[in-house]
Amino acid sequence: MYKNEYLNKILVNVKEKCAEQKEFINAVEEFLDSMDYIVGSDPDIEKYAILERIVVPERVVMFRVPWVDDNGKIQVNNGYRVQFNSAIGPYKGGLRLDPSVNLSILKFLGFEQIFKNSLTGLPMGGGKGGSDFNPKGKSDAEVMRFCQSFMQELYQVIGPNTDVPAGDIGVGAREIGYMYGMYKKLTKDVTGVLTGKGISFGGSLTRTEATGFGLCYFAEELLKTYYNDSFNGKNVVISGSGNVAQYAAFKATELGAKVVAMSDRNGYIASEDGIDIEFVRNIKNERKSLVDEYVKKYPNTKNGKNTHDIWKIKCDIALPSATQNEINIEDAKALVKNGCKVLCEGANMPTELDAVKYLYENGVIFSPGKASNAGGVAVSGLEMSQNAMHLSWTFEEVDQKLKEIMQNIFKACYETASKYGEPKNLSLGANIAGFLKVYNAMKAQGVI
Ligand code: NDP
Repeated sequence: MYKNEYLNKILVNVKEKCAEQKEFINAVEEFLDSMDYIVGSDPDIEKYAILERIVVPERVVMFRVPWVDDNGKIQVNNGYRVQFNSAIGPYKGGLRLDPSVNLSILKFLGFEQIFKNSLTGLPMGGGKGGSDFNPKGKSDAEVMRFCQSFMQELYQVIGPNTDVPAGDIGVGAREIGYMYGMYKKLTKDVTGVLTGKGISFGGSLTRTEATGFGLCYFAEELLKTYYNDSFNGKNVVISGSGNVAQYAAFKATELGAKVVAMSDRNGYIASEDGIDIEFVRNIKNERKSLVDEYVKKYPNTKNGKNTHDIWKIKCDIALPSATQNEINIEDAKALVKNGCKVLCEGANMPTELDAVKYLYENGVIFSPGKASNAGGVAVSGLEMSQNAMHLSWTFEEVDQKLKEIMQNIFKACYETASKYGEPKNLSLGANIAGFLKVYNAMKAQGVI
């Protein structure tokens, strides 16, 4: 229950209309919590029906994706693009390929993306898309045929000035390359309609590293502000071993920390001496199982099949970077018990709402993904700028801009949270700071 009746009405309505969409309802619930701090003092939010509008996507496109597998059999998947909010710029957000993908997950991710993109300070609206196609175990040719079929529909609703998708779980450089090739063939348009492209055809240096590096830049700023401390000498647990996790692990190590545990869907590995991150990257580049391969080379490594057990490994800093709902209340209790001081989300909403509350009440500084993982989309925004200007910045230039953006996001979250009397509540700061810009733009643009 919120203090403000208007918010209760919004939530009841979302729960009624989207009853099956639990991930989306969770995201709205978490956001409305923060709105309770501002709606009472600004009647225009209700007068202009801003919240009624902001929780409904401007457009959702769902389509059939037929493709032919290597045995000549026809397969069919569902494809989606959720164009959530374009108040401050073209829709921007990744494409996810994973069997778990459904409308609820994409609406939750698209909704979060609105505020994340706003926080970057760049003119980007919020969107998300993907398919329930599972790239695991598929040949390159199968992935290519799927991506081409997916783009044969998607191209109709995207464009460099309307909607610019990027990668996410299951979508890396290979998939972006195949999709971009088909987009170009269909439209004869060689401008940057996708970000995360290969460097030789319009991609930006540092895009691959951006989310993981940005996560650490954000965490470094957080450590300095709250603890007058840094990564130096800290033990870090990072879940996942994909794009975000790998580059967070490299940057944390570069900043003087030791990464003591990592995971994938099939289990986790832990070592007090530190994980061999380069080897983890090689395993994942070959799309193999983390635990099986790692233990072959390092037989004494602690490991387990239950991915939640990674949160029982003692650490100072936790960087969940796999997927949503990976930290439940029991995991949060284990982290607190072992002395974890900071949790920065690399993934989108990996921490369940009651776990966030528990961490907050027990003194762990928590940052939501919409703030701490915004580095990826920020560099995507920089990729769009480079494409529009037909030039390429160096790795160092983009890295420096990324660092500044992450420092600014932290500052915006911290200062906004402090303004509302809760300086340690970065979720509050992120939601309000991200919302205000979108709100003002929506108000200025009339009822659309
Ligand atoms: P990847 O596909 O590169 O990596 C995901 C990793 O998480 C893999 O190691 C995967 O295991 C593991 N994983 C997936 N599901 C589970 C699960 N249920 N339990 C345990 N581990 C799991 O994706 P990204 O690194 O790109 O994305 C990770 C998260 O970060 C997602 O929430 C994404 O939305 C978010 N994000 C990503 C951004 C980006 O720039 N890539 C930007 C902002 C947010 P396996 O190797 O076995 O598949």
